[in-house]
Amino acid sequence: MALLQQTPRLSASEASEIARELYAIDATALPLPSERDQNFLLMQVGAELARPWLVLKIANGADDRALLEAQAAAAEHLAAQGVASIRIVPTISGAVIAELPPRWRGGHLVRLATWLHGVTMASVPHQTPELLEDLGRHLGEVDRALTTFDHPALHRDFYWDLANGVALVRRNLSLVEDPELRGVIERIVARVEKDDVPRFARLRRSVIHNDANDHNVVVSADGDLPHQRVAGLIDFGDLVYSFTVADLAIAIAYAVLDNPDPLEVVETMVRGYQGAYPLREDELAVLSGLILLRLCVSVCVAAEQQRQRPDDKYLSVSQDAIRRTLPKLEGVGSLLQNLPMGNLPKRSQILQKAPDPIERRRLIGPNVRLAYREPLTIVRGWMQYLYDDKGRRYLDAYNNVPHVGHAHPRVVEAVTEQMRLLNTNTRYLHESLVRYAERLTATLPDPLRVCYFVNSGSEANELALRLARAHTRQQDLIVLDAAYHGNTTTLVSISPYKFNGPGGEGAPPWVHVVPIPDIFRGAFKGHDAGTRYADSVSGAIDGIRATGRGLCGYIAESAPSVGGQIILPPGYLDAVYKVVRAAGGVCVADEVQTAYGRLGTSAYAFEPQLVVPDIVVFGKPIGNGHPIGAVVTTAAIAASFDNGMEFFSTFGGNTVSCAAGLAVLDVMEDEHLQAHAHRVGDAFAARLRALQDRHAIVGDVRGSGLFFGVELVKSRETLEPAATEASSVVNRMRDEGILIGTDGPHANVLKIRPPMPFNEGDGALLADTLDRILGELK
Ligand code: PMP
Repeated sequence: MALLQQTPRLSASEASEIARELYAIDATALPLPSERDQNFLLMQVGAELARPWLVLKIANGADDRALLEAQAAAAEHLAAQGVASIRIVPTISGAVIAELPPRWRGGHLVRLATWLHGVTMASVPHQTPELLEDLGRHLGEVDRALTTFDHPALHRDFYWDLANGVALVRRNLSLVEDPELRGVIERIVARVEKDDVPRFARLRRSVIHNDANDHNVVVSADGDLPHQRVAGLIDFGDLVYSFTVADLAIAIAYAVLDNPDPLEVVETMVRGYQGAYPLREDELAVLSGLILLRLCVSVCVAAEQQRQRPDDKYLSVSQDAIRRTLPKLEGVGSLLQNLPMGNLPKRSQILQKAPDPIERRRLIGPNVRLAYREPLTIVRGWMQYLYDDKGRRYLDAYNNVPHVGHAHPRVVEAVTEQMRLLNTNTRYLHESLVRYAERLTATLPDPLRVCYFVNSGSEANELALRLARAHTRQQDLIVLDAAYHGNTTTLVSISPYKFNGPGGEGAPPWVHVVPIPDIFRGAFKGHDAGTRYADSVSGAIDGIRATGRGLCGYIAESAPSVGGQIILPPGYLDAVYKVVRAAGGVCVADEVQTAYGRLGTSAYAFEPQLVVPDIVVFGKPIGNGHPIGAVVTTAAIAASFDNGMEFFSTFGGNTVSCAAGLAVLDVMEDEHLQAHAHRVGDAFAARLRALQDRHAIVGDVRGSGLFFGVELVKSRETLEPAATEASSVVNRMRDEGILIGTDGPHANVLKIRPPMPFNEGDGALLADTLDRILGELK
C-alpha cells in the first residue's frame, strides 16, 4: 500500500499558514486523526465565539485530482438534493481544489470543507435505537440522492470496495497473525463466496460513501439524548462506485461492534434505511454477508498496514472490537442465519392498534382457539424468532411449520419469483413438479417412488386413506390412541384425540384404537415393550376378522407428537408392519410433524424403527409455511388408485408450491439442518435431562434432534399428570419470551419443537428459563 508512504506530514502551524494564504482565514489548526491524508480542524481566531467550523484537508500524495474533484462534487450534489452534508469552501481564487505551493513540500492537494456541527457517533456513549434508526435513514437519503450522481474517477479499483472484498481477504489473510481470527475469517469468506457472490451481478450499483463508520458519522449535539439526530457524514475519501447496499452494510458493520444485541442494531438500521430508500430482495439477502465481509476486510487491511506503520494507532482503531465481535457474529446463532432480512414491516404496516379479541370472537368461529393466557399479536418472524406488535422478540420453540426458519429468504425468494412468473396446476407440463417429486422421493427409500401433491396434512391423510382403500378394498383401520390426523370428517373419525375428546362422538365401528407405545406411562416399559405393544395390533386384527371384515391398514405418526412427543420403543413398527401386511393391510406413516430431519438422526422418524411404510404422509414443514401436503407411495398402490377416476387438486402441486418445496429441500441440504438439529439436540437434551435431577415434577424427558417432550407429573410413583402446572409453565415461559406448548392425552407434556435454526444458545436459554420457572412452582 504505497498510499501510506505518501501521507502528508504538515505541522499545525503550517496548516494555519495555508488557511491564511489560500483561503484568507485566520485560524488555529488542530490535527485530526486520519488514515492516509491529513485533516486539520480550523478554529477561527478573533471570532466572537472561537468555535471550530472548518476542516482543512491535505490529500495524500497518491490521491489524484480527479478523485478529489469527485468527492467535492458528491458533497455538493448531496447538499443540492437537500441532504445534510459538508460543503466545500473555495480558495480566494475560486478553486475547489488547490495545489500546495512548493514551500509546503508541494504536490499535495488541499480542500477546505465546512464543519458539521456536533460530535462523532463514536463519542456518543449510548447509541440509542432512535439514533441508529436515524443513521439508517440518513444513509438511505444519501444513497437515494447519489443514484443521480456519477463521476468517472469513482469507477476505480479500490481496496475498500466490497466488490473486491473476497479477493482482498484471500490475498491478505495470511498476514492475520491470530490463528483463531484467521479461521473465523476463512469460514465467513467461504460462506460469502458461496451464498452472496452469486448474487453480486444482480445488485444495484451507484456511488456510495463507503465508510460510514462511527468516526465518520456526525451526531447533532442539539437537544436531549433521545432527540439526537445524525447531522451528516464526513470523510468522503472512500467514495466509490459499488454495490449500493454496501453503504448500509458498512455502517452496520461498525454499529454492531461490541453491541450486545447485533440483531436489534441490524433491524433498526435497516428499518431506518428502508424508510428513506427501499432495499431490494437481493440486497437484503446479501446484507449480512457484506456486513461480515467488511469486518473481515478491515482486519486484513489493518494487518497489512500495521506492518508498514506499527505505531499508528488510527490504523487499528476498530480492530480490538472486531476481534471481540467477529467470532460471536460468526459462531452459533450466526448473524448470517439470524439477520432479519426481507421482512421488516414499514412503520405504516405495523398494526396501529392491537387486534381486539372480542371482535375476533364475533367474526371468527368461537372454537378457533388462541394460544396462551395472554394471547400474542405476532407481526413478523425471522428464523427461530417471532416478533410481536411492540417489537418484542420471542424464541419460537414450538412451531415446526417454518422448518428452515420463519421467512427464510431463499424460500421467500423462490415463491416470489415463481408467483411473478406463473402459478398454475398439474394439468400442464412443468419442470418444477417433476423436479420436486424427484427430489422428494430421493429422500425416501425404495419402493416409495410415486408422489401426489395436495395442500395440507389433512388432505394428504385423506388421500392416503383413499389410496389404502383403493389398494385393499377394505375400510377397517387401526389407529393409535390419542392420535390426530386431521380436520376433515373422515380424519376426525380416525383421530381418538378428537373423537374421544370434548365434542367427540367416539370411534365409528371401522376404527380400532390400540394403545400408544409409551414406555413412560404405558403398560409396557421393558426391553420387549416394542413387541408387546405390537401385540395389541394383532389383537385388533383378530377383532376385525371376528366381524367378518378385512383390514385396510394401520396409520400412526412415526413419533407420536400429538400423543405426547413419544419415541417408539425399538422393534415396535417392524412387528406392527409385519402383522398388518400379513393381514393384507397397508402401513401408513404420518410424518406431518416429524419429516425432514426433525429427530436429527434421520430424515424421517420411521427410519430408526427399521421399516419402510407403504404410504408416507407429509404436511407442515415441507413448504416452510407455504401450504403443501404430499403423499408418497409405491407404484403398486398408485396403480390400484388409478381406477379410471382422475385425481386432481386445484392447488396441489401448483408451480409456486413446487418452488417453495424445492427451496426448502435446498436449504435443508445447504445448511445441513438435520446434522445441525442432531448436534444442537444432543446438547439441549443434556440440559433438559439435568432438569429432571433438579425438579421432581419432571417425570420424563424424551426426544432427540429438535423434537422433545418434557412430561410433568405430580408424583413419580403414581405418575399423576401435572396438567395445570404444565399449562402454567407454558404461560410463564411465554411471559419470559419463549414459546412452547403442551400435548399428550393428559395435556401434561411440554412440547418443544422449534424451527430447525434453533441453536445451542437458544437451547441454553430455554433450559435455564425453564429451570427458573419450574423452581417457581415449588
Ligand atoms: N397429521 C398430524 C400428525 C398432524 O399433527 C396434523 C396437524 N396438527 C395433521 C395431520 C393435519 O395437518 P393440517 O392441519 O395441515 O391439515
